[in-house]
Amino acid sequence: MIQTKKTIYDKAEDSDGERILVMRYWPRGVPKSKIDLWIKELGTEPELIRKWKAKKISWAEFKREYKKSLKGKEQVLEELARKAKNSKITLLCSCKDAEKCHRTVLASEVEKILSKKKERFERDHTLVS
Ligand SMILES: [Zn+2]
Repeated sequence: MIQTKKTIYDKAEDSDGERILVMRYWPRGVPKSKIDLWIKELGTEPELIRKWKAKKISWAEFKREYKKSLKGKEQVLEELARKAKNSKITLLCSCKDAEKCHRTVLASEVEKILSKKKERFERDHTLVS
C-alpha cells in the first residue's frame, strides 16, 4: 500500500510504514531520523520544478515531464513496488498539496507496476486449474 497524503513536515506515525523521502534536495530543518529511506533520483528535476512553480506549465505537462524523467529508473520503481506489495510505504515531499505533487504521480506509476504483476500472477495461476 502506498500513502501520499503526508508531507515531510507532518508528524511521523507507526501507521506510515516505511517513510521514503522522494525529494532531490534535503528539506531544511528536517532531522534525518524522520525518514527511513531517501531516494533522491525520484525527485523532480530542478528545471521542471522551476517551470511548475513559475506556472509556465500545466499540471498535465508537469505530469508528462515527470513521467518522462522516470525512464531508466525502472529498477528503483520495481523496488518500491516490492516494498508496497509486502507492507505499507509513505512517499514524502514538502508540497502541501499532494494532488499536485510528483509523489502522487510516482505512486500511481508504482501502482501500475503492482497491478501488472497481479494480472500476470492471476493469469499464470488460472492456466494451471
Ligand atoms: Zn512535492
